[in-house]
Amino acid sequence: MPLDIVILGPPGAGKGTQAAKIEADAGIPHIATGDIVRAEMAAETPFGLRVMEYNLRGELVPDELMIERVRERLLEGDTEDGFVLDGFPRTLAQAQALDAMLDDLDRSIRVVLHFQLPEELAEQRLLGRALASGRADDTPEVIHKRMATMRVPHDLIAYYRALGNLVGIHADRSIEEVYAEVQNVLETAAA
Ligand code: AMP
Repeated sequence: MPLDIVILGPPGAGKGTQAAKIEADAGIPHIATGDIVRAEMAAETPFGLRVMEYNLRGELVPDELMIERVRERLLEGDTEDGFVLDGFPRTLAQAQALDAMLDDLDRSIRVVLHFQLPEELAEQRLLGRALASGRADDTPEVIHKRMATMRVPHDLIAYYRALGNLVGIHADRSIEEVYAEVQNVLETAAA
């Protein structure tokens, strides 16, 4: 069975860092929908041009567009042994569509890693990142507003909790400590 993993959590919780480590160790692709959106906007592909207005307003891209794009991505050959999906699903409709598309392929999500971090800490981390990269537009106010729109919705958590494959990860620790826990969870899930 492929190792299909979903990562949930606020920005600043270290999802991307952990996903990259899983990708390197497990040999399965890290698929970050935010990266896809930004790359396609930059390349001005038809998808990039359609989603640009939403993204530039700081909004989520409509479900139908995002679901179709993820479906195409998951059908690429490199996902044969699994994937780490980061940034998707963001809504209950996306979660249900993901389950349906995996079901069609006779596969299913093995584990949902929910990275948990107190909101003030996530904001501090984002602010630190913005200062380090010299992004002057990432002011405390902008970051505070972005956090509110990027919070993982309760219905999504409830959906995965009911399915029984949700695992909470305390993200307020060093990268190594968090990754050790992630590895434990994945070993149990793969067994
Ligand atoms: P992220 O880097 O994950 O914060 O995503 C950056 C932007 O890409 C978001 O603000 C949305 O405009 C868009 N995006 C990424 N993933 C999704 C998704 N699953 N559903 C809708 N929009 C998304």
